[in-house]
Amino acid sequence: MRKIMIAGNWKMNKTIAESIELVKGIKESGKVQVLVAPVFTALSAVCEARGDRKICVAAQNMHYEESGAFTGEISPLMVKDTGAKHVILGHSERRHIFKEDDALIKEKVLSAIAHGLKVILCIGEQLEEREAEKTNEVLDVQLTEGLKGITPDQMEDVIIAYEPVWAIGTGKVATPEQAQEAHAFCRRKIAELFGEDVAEKVRILYGGSLKPDNADGLLSQKDIDGGLIGGASLKADSFNAIIDAAERL
Ligand code: PEP
Repeated sequence: MRKIMIAGNWKMNKTIAESIELVKGIKESGKVQVLVAPVFTALSAVCEARGDRKICVAAQNMHYEESGAFTGEISPLMVKDTGAKHVILGHSERRHIFKEDDALIKEKVLSAIAHGLKVILCIGEQLEEREAEKTNEVLDVQLTEGLKGITPDQMEDVIIAYEPVWAIGTGKVATPEQAQEAHAFCRRKIAELFGEDVAEKVRILYGGSLKPDNADGLLSQKDIDGGLIGGASLKADSFNAIIDAAERL
């Protein structure tokens, strides 16, 4: 019932020409929703280069205001201007390197939705938090605070990405059981916040060293509805192989 999404977060990689080349090599799928998130400067070019193919395009971040004195920032209107219809918010690199907190992320989520953008909200615990058995506590706070003010109806425009910080870009992947447990917790929390119907419909992606060789085990879990992929999304072959794995489910 929930359509699988395979999303590529290209992070701060690829020039415009390289981004165009990469999106041209990515397959579209009738079964799986495919999404790519290039750097801001390549958003328009990637939207154009995908042509009529069913590939969604996302920004990797945005400011919540429409315009103003925010040097270096991009507003929801500007994201929409490029043709992108999605935005990734609260990525762990934004939280930990750029010190974004839940209160700021919540403003961004509210603004993106008010402007008609679909949000991929990233959440996830750090290694010390997992070791201290605080994973559920962290996810609880990030979901409750990051989605504050969102109505159950607006949750149609929200996708969650559970990304354990210790697994991002490290090659250390969560086991399918660890990931499933965290996803099931997130779905229960969403049911508590927005009701069972919303929780059944909301997609929860897994992110953290997802690769072609571990995709089957992770994507086949009951509460895992796709993946947010960094490293393996930078080459069309490996990204397409993950799309293939999702199509086989
Ligand atoms: C990410 O950037 O969201 C991510 C999951 O990266 P990687 O797949 O490289 O761990």
